[in-house]
Amino acid sequence: MRYRKLGRTGISVSEVGLGSEAFVGRDDDFAQELIDTALQAGVNYFDLYNPEPYIRDSMGKAMAGRREQFVIQAHLCSAWMDGQYKRTRNIETVRSACEDLFRRLKTDYVDVGMIHYLDEQKDYDAVFHGPVMEYARELKAAGKILHLGMSTHNPRVAIQAAESGEIDVIMFSVNPAYDILPPNEDVNALFEKSTYEAPDVLSCTDPERLKLYSLCESEGVALTVMKPYGGGALLDADESPFGAAMTAAQCLHYCLTRPAVACVLAGARTKEELLGAAAYSELPEEEKDFARLLGNTPAHRFTDKCMYCGHCAPCTAGIDIASVNKFADLCEAQHMVPETVREHYGALKVKAGSCVKCGACETRCPFDVKITEHMQKAYEIFGA
Ligand code: SF4
Ligand code: SF4
Repeated sequence: MRYRKLGRTGISVSEVGLGSEAFVGRDDDFAQELIDTALQAGVNYFDLYNPEPYIRDSMGKAMAGRREQFVIQAHLCSAWMDGQYKRTRNIETVRSACEDLFRRLKTDYVDVGMIHYLDEQKDYDAVFHGPVMEYARELKAAGKILHLGMSTHNPRVAIQAAESGEIDVIMFSVNPAYDILPPNEDVNALFEKSTYEAPDVLSCTDPERLKLYSLCESEGVALTVMKPYGGGALLDADESPFGAAMTAAQCLHYCLTRPAVACVLAGARTKEELLGAAAYSELPEEEKDFARLLGNTPAHRFTDKCMYCGHCAPCTAGIDIASVNKFADLCEAQHMVPETVREHYGALKVKAGSCVKCGACETRCPFDVKITEHMQKAYEIFGA
């Protein structure tokens, strides 16, 4: 397992984490075994969106005596009512669900207190300027929440959260299918095939999503990823909007090569699925490579936009082409050169200015990226 910094929080997290949907409908024995399996595989990041009491109790039991081995992302505004999960903004319900969370987890703090599922602008405004945010700030001031987070599927809302300066972690839905879609307040649109047949769907990453990735990278806001397989559709050729099936490893690799992504919640429902996802870090490059597939799909072929896949390596001059393109894109998305990006670029051993325009890389790029032009543009942006 490899570990990454959770943005500016500085917490070291496993690049593959465990989501709580794995526990739904199971029992404590199953939960204890799955959590132990996760820890043994090096997983230390756990998402707790689900308020089901047994899941909170099981996680609390598993953490006893070894709290430091867990980085917990727990959700506010997610309550167990009338025997089912509900999203709520009612402050009394939010408070009692949160008190229940701490009581059952038997812990003094959670690492990330995540404001749950904000996709609509109206909802975002009400939460950020209302009692829910005040309560979240209270919990943070009291040390019960170390960092504030927010979950959303809408890049427009996520951008505002990243710009707020208060949100350190955003749980966001990342995968190549959603990445071609413009922002939408209706999460159901992400799952409907007709969405991908609409004329405004792009053949490359949506600019607002690019802006989100760029902003998070430069501000040190970490992205933790939900729905890396597009709700399963990307794993099935008939369901995928690309008309071809990706493997789980290719989906994870796609997510983990986006800027600002710290951890992917793999959505494993069994011990085997969890171990399969956790093995990602050890897989050879060819098993993770999504480039050939996405560069040759029957629909929505990505073109002339770098996907940071690394397929064009090795460069004759020793340039890390994917990184150069990523840093240049981060600047273009924000129409400026953020200081952190300049530093990252400065740390590259060989700069874009060393490109000898041999063109060897272009013959290897599945997305027809005009790499020599991109190197020239990067040279102009960074002056090296
Ligand atoms: S230039 Fe092409 S091959 Fe190279 S990292 Fe970008 S998309 Fe991949
Ligand atoms: S064209 Fe430039 S970036 Fe591509 S392989 Fe040659 S030197 Fe490297």
